[in-house]
Formats: sequence, structure tokens, C-alpha cells
Amino acid sequence: MRRITSCLVCSGDALVGTPAIVAPFIREYALGGAGRPDPPTQALLLTCTSCDMVFYDLRYDDDEIAALYTGYRGERYFELRHRFEPLYTRKYNDIMGRQPAAVDTRKRTVKALICAELGDDAITSVLDFGGDKGQFIPDFEGAARYVLEVSDVQPAPGVTSVSRLEDLRDPVDLVMLAHVLEHVSDPIALLAELTAAVGDRGYLYVEVPLDRPKMPPPWAGRLQTSWVDVVTRNPRVTVAVDAVSTPVRVLAGGRWIPFTFPRQHEHLNFFCPQSLSCALERAGWQTIVQKQYNHSTGPLGLSVLGVLARRAVSASGIPSQAAP
Ligand SMILES: [Zn+2]
Repeated sequence: MRRITSCLVCSGDALVGTPAIVAPFIREYALGGAGRPDPPTQALLLTCTSCDMVFYDLRYDDDEIAALYTGYRGERYFELRHRFEPLYTRKYNDIMGRQPAAVDTRKRTVKALICAELGDDAITSVLDFGGDKGQFIPDFEGAARYVLEVSDVQPAPGVTSVSRLEDLRDPVDLVMLAHVLEHVSDPIALLAELTAAVGDRGYLYVEVPLDRPKMPPPWAGRLQTSWVDVVTRNPRVTVAVDAVSTPVRVLAGGRWIPFTFPRQHEHLNFFCPQSLSCALERAGWQTIVQKQYNHSTGPLGLSVLGVLARRAVSASGIPSQAAP
């Protein structure tokens, strides 16, 4: 684990921080373990005043990411998370992202966006990166469908599973990256890596939730800092406050409520249209179109941002390289 002190999208250092806690479930499930130092209890939620990116300063290492997403939403994951977060129910765990109506809506919405820009016949092969069983890949007629997924689920019928990008025999026309970028420690590196999967003329569809945590007002800054200090001194108090923070904020319509605070969980990054375009550009992609939807599979009906991008091409016609 490491902490970052500059913007992970634009590298700017004009950041505003809000005290936050690391969710106890995440500490126990992914950050602890034999031989490791005590995981941190506090984090900072940072806002970049240049590109408007919001992100937590703690970045998970590769082994912590593997611990979190191998067996994702499996039995051990559910049992531990439900113990720390009683409102995380079995039903929610099992249907998340798999309700047929929600899957169908997402497929049709994404297909409509892509076909409106590229025509009906442009996509003959698709890779869904981090796409669970590949159930979200739209029905492009005759297209080859691949999924790259770190958790050990069986792919849907007609979908071929690959374990690495290098396992693709040929570049694909389209890479989908839906509800992944908010989870990764280095989104620019992942976006840049995906340019190799599409060759020179391929496309990328990125989708992220618009679920930026509500910040406390400026007057609450010192109060917030003191409260986080008090709460994180006692693990039992931390667990109790963590368990009620999110339900209270949901009941309050997302408004900031005194004595609750942002909690670093699985989502590390909170994009907006500006910061996502900036990230894509730095990684060698050029935004074609952005659209906001409300087709989240979650219970809160959160809005999402979908972006279709192509490989950025220089004036000489050569695809550009990602920024170092
Ligand atoms: Zn920035």
C-alpha cells in the first residue's frame, strides 16, 4: 500500500483533503494478514482543483487488489462483509450485476450509444475487461466476445475467457471497461495498457458511476479531523460508526451529516466528465462522446457516465503514446 500526494490523473499538486476512514471490512479482508504491519485506519479523500478528480490517497498494492477481487462476492467475502456491514445482505450480494432486466438495459443502452456513433456493423470483436461472466457485452451481430476477469467465474455461453491481454490472438475492435476504473490504483496505467488490445483503429467504452462522496462544508474541517481521530482510536467504535455512516447518508439523500464521514472501500476513484476525459487523453485515447445514464444495477439508482473513445492519432496519422 502506498499514499499519493499528487493528482493521479493530471499530476497536479493543488489538492484539498477531507479526513476519511478505511472501511473495517477492507482492512480485515484485503489489507491485513500474517507478517504485515497494521493496516491504516485513516485516509484522505482528495479533490484536485485542476481537473476536478476526487480520489483516496491510499492506493492498494497488487497483492491487496488480488486479495480483494479473487473470489469477489464469494462466500468468504459475503460472510465477512455482512459481519462488518449488516445491511449488506445475501440477496444484494447474489443479485448484484446479474438481474436479467438490468443486464438487458445496460446492453441495449451501450449498444445504442456505440451504433449511433460508429454504425451497426463496426464492431466484429469485443473484450469486456473485468466484465464478470461477459453478460454485459451488447449483442453486436456475429461479433466474437471475450472477457478478462480476475475472479474465478464461468463465462456466459458464447463468451471466451482470457486471463491476460496477451492471450488475445488479434486486436479487438472494442474494449469495454465498465465499473472497473473506479476500483484500480493506477487508472492511467490501465487505460494505457488497453491501447495494445485494440490495435491502431479500435475503440474503448468506459463506464464509471457518478457516486462522488458528499464533502463536509468548510466549517466542519477541524470538527471532521477531530472526530475521525477519536473514532479510529477504538476499533469497536470505528466498526459501529462505519456500519451506520452509509445508511444515514443514504437516508439523508446523500447530504453530508455531522459525525459521519467518507470511508475508503472498494471505490478509490471518483471521476467526473472533465477528469475522465483528462485521464483518457493522458493514456493515449481521444473522447468521441460522453453520456450520462441512470442504469446502475445498484439499489441506489446512481447515475453513471459512459464514454466512447478511440485511439488518439497524431497529425501524422500515427497513434500517440500515453503520457509518461
Ligand atoms: Zn488533477
